Amino acid sequence: PRGEPLGVELIGVRKSFGGVHALRGIDLTIEPGTVHAIVGPNGSGKTTLLNVISRLLRQDEGQVILDAEDVSRAPAERLARRGVARVFQTPRLLGTSSLRDNVLLGAYTRERSGGPAIVLRLPWARREQAELAAEADRLLAGHGLAGRASEEAASLPHGEQRLLEVARALMARPRLLLMDEPAAGLTPRELESLGRLIRAIRDTGTTVVLVEHHIELVASVADVVTVLDRGRLVTSGPPQEALGDARVVEVYLGA
Ligand code: ADP
Repeated sequence: PRGEPLGVELIGVRKSFGGVHALRGIDLTIEPGTVHAIVGPNGSGKTTLLNVISRLLRQDEGQVILDAEDVSRAPAERLARRGVARVFQTPRLLGTSSLRDNVLLGAYTRERSGGPAIVLRLPWARREQAELAAEADRLLAGHGLAGRASEEAASLPHGEQRLLEVARALMARPRLLLMDEPAAGLTPRELESLGRLIRAIRDTGTTVVLVEHHIELVASVADVVTVLDRGRLVTSGPPQEALGDARVVEVYLGA
C-alpha cells in the first residue's frame, strides 16, 4: 500500500553556492494530491528547489516539512523510504539491462520489499519476483511499451527512455513524485501521453512536483503553478491566474 499523497511545506528556505543566491527565502506550500508546477527562467532556482525537497542538497537556512514531519536534516535515503521518488533531467537507466529489470529496480525502496534479492533472482524471492514482474509489465504497457519488456533500455529512443524512467519511479509507489523537465526532447505525441500520465499519477494518490519549461504542458496539467525569478517566489496559484500575472510576463520577457 502506498499510503496517502504527501504534502510539502518550505519555510524561509535559502541556498547559496559561493556568492550565487540560488534560493533567497522561499515560503511555499505544496498541497497533497496536486500537480504543482515550478516555472521560471533559467537560473531562477527551480532545480535547486527540487534538490532541497529531495534532500540531494541541504538548505543553508529554513525548514522543509514533509507531511507534518520536519525533514530539514533528513538524508535523501530516508525520504525514499517515506515515498519520495524522482525523475531526473537526463535518464539514469541501466542501458544493457531489460526494460523490465529497469522498472523492477524501482521497487527497491518499497517498504518490506526484497529489492536486492529480487534483482539478484535469489530463489526465496521467486514468487514476489513473479508478482513484481507482472506489475512492471503493466506499468510498461501503461507507458506505451507493451510487449517490449525484454528489450535493452539503451535501444529505446530518448523520449521512450524518459517514459521508462517514469515507469521505474512509479514502481516505487511514490506518495510524492519530483519531475525535473520531463518534457525535454519529447515529440508532440509523447508530450500528449506525458500529460495524460501526469494526471493519472496524481489521480492514483501521488503528489507531483513538476519543474517544466513547456508552458502548454504546465497549463494543461498543473493544479497550481509557482513562478520563481532569481531565487525568489514571484507568484503561486492556479495556472490561469499565475501564468496570466503581469509580473510573470515581465519575468520571462526580462530574462
Ligand atoms: P534553474 O533550475 O531554474 O535553471 P538552478 O536551480 O539550476 O536554476 O540554479 C540557480 C542558480 O544557482 C544559478 O545561478 C546556478 O548557476 C546556480 N547553481 C546551481 N547549482 C549550482 C552548483 N552546484 N554550484 C554552483 N552554482 C550553482
